[in-house]
Amino acid sequence: MTLPDYPDETPQSSAWQARAEQVIPGGVSSPVRAFKGVGGTPRYFTRGSGAWVHDVDDRRYVDLVGSWGPMILGHAHPAVVAAVTEQVALSSSFGAPAPQETLLAEEIRSRVPVAERVRFVSSGTEAVMTAVRLARAATGRDLIVKFAGCYHGHSDALLVQAGSGVATLGLPNSPGVTAGSVKDTIVLPYNDLHAVEQLFAERGHLIAAILTEGAAANMGVVPPAAGFNQSLSRIAHSHGALLILDEVMTGFRVSSGGWWGLTRESGTDAPDILTFGKVIGGGYPLAAVGGRASIMNLLAPLGPVYQAGTLSGNPVAATAGLVTLQNCDETLYTHLDATAQAIGTGVSAELTRAGIPHSLQYASNLFSIFFSANAVTNYAEASTQDTETFARFFHGMLRHGVSLPPSAYEAWFVSGAHGEAEIEHVLTAAKAAVSELNR
Ligand SMILES: *Cc1c(COP(=O)(O)O)cnc(C)c1O
Repeated sequence: MTLPDYPDETPQSSAWQARAEQVIPGGVSSPVRAFKGVGGTPRYFTRGSGAWVHDVDDRRYVDLVGSWGPMILGHAHPAVVAAVTEQVALSSSFGAPAPQETLLAEEIRSRVPVAERVRFVSSGTEAVMTAVRLARAATGRDLIVKFAGCYHGHSDALLVQAGSGVATLGLPNSPGVTAGSVKDTIVLPYNDLHAVEQLFAERGHLIAAILTEGAAANMGVVPPAAGFNQSLSRIAHSHGALLILDEVMTGFRVSSGGWWGLTRESGTDAPDILTFGKVIGGGYPLAAVGGRASIMNLLAPLGPVYQAGTLSGNPVAATAGLVTLQNCDETLYTHLDATAQAIGTGVSAELTRAGIPHSLQYASNLFSIFFSANAVTNYAEASTQDTETFARFFHGMLRHGVSLPPSAYEAWFVSGAHGEAEIEHVLTAAKAAVSELNR
């Protein structure tokens, strides 16, 4: 194979970025896209097909961003394109019920039976916001426990030590979030059960819910220690609190039942509320909150907890999500697992050969590489990584036609369309990028 060696200059992307900055803050609609974590100019993309994306300078890259998770089947998957095209011609939104919502909700519940009822929204942010509101309503309590480095969207109450984009930009918290809106949010270190037990011993009767990612994947990939989520559930339940499992990233990405599908806690060990997003919209704006019927039925119109959305569950997004999930079968997950192993271990081998300290970490097929000597188990450890080496590695990969997430704090995403040729391309690029790290 011939490895591309693209010049550092990006005339068309640079022109678009300069123009965008005149009308959009930072030129971007979501901050990590701006390349602040790695420097340089973000690439402007025009099309994608399978594992590949093409930019305005007519360069092509193997895509390991996958729109941050949704493109699990690859770009422009023919079945998704066909179904969406058909639906768009029949109208994209009624502001009234349509059959696709029920079909998608049934598909989700068949994979995650603890999600007895499902309500659709348009973003993961909304889904978690709704889950928190429900947990407070169901318990009559105010406090929410979250973990440092876990991201649950950008709603005010949850924007404290939130990993992901905030970590990339080195922002501890966000101005504009009032002390009042975060006063009921308690932040603990991830994977620290002792801290959770201690907190509950003191204030358990005031806590509405523990909120945690299925596996933390917004500070780089940091899997929960064995039994961590289950213990959270038990601690919460023994104090009359709930567990909200945020599967916006892991849901239907790491297995056919999301992270819950890998552990299948039931009864009192089960999460009470789950949130989904990314994959369930198949690249369209769709997310969901699901959970026990007794809790979910508190939502209006059955109950008093208000929640709504003009485009919520619109038939285009629901169709894309349904067709995407229908294609997420065991064959796909086996493929994703093998592909993630091949790329992760292959890149790691190049770094090891060059004597570069790093930690390759997996949560099923989600993975990332920390440029740090030791394994990372929480956010404090994640933030000791060498982000400058990551930035140079990132640009080396880009030069050789591989698009990685532009931040050391993000997971890498593979898809059903990443085959042998793409794996070989990524590993050849990694060999070159590692050898050029000191250039
Ligand atoms: C991406 C993400 C969110 C936010 O979803 P958006 O659709 O970007 O609002 C929430 N929680 C987790 C775990 C996520 O990965």
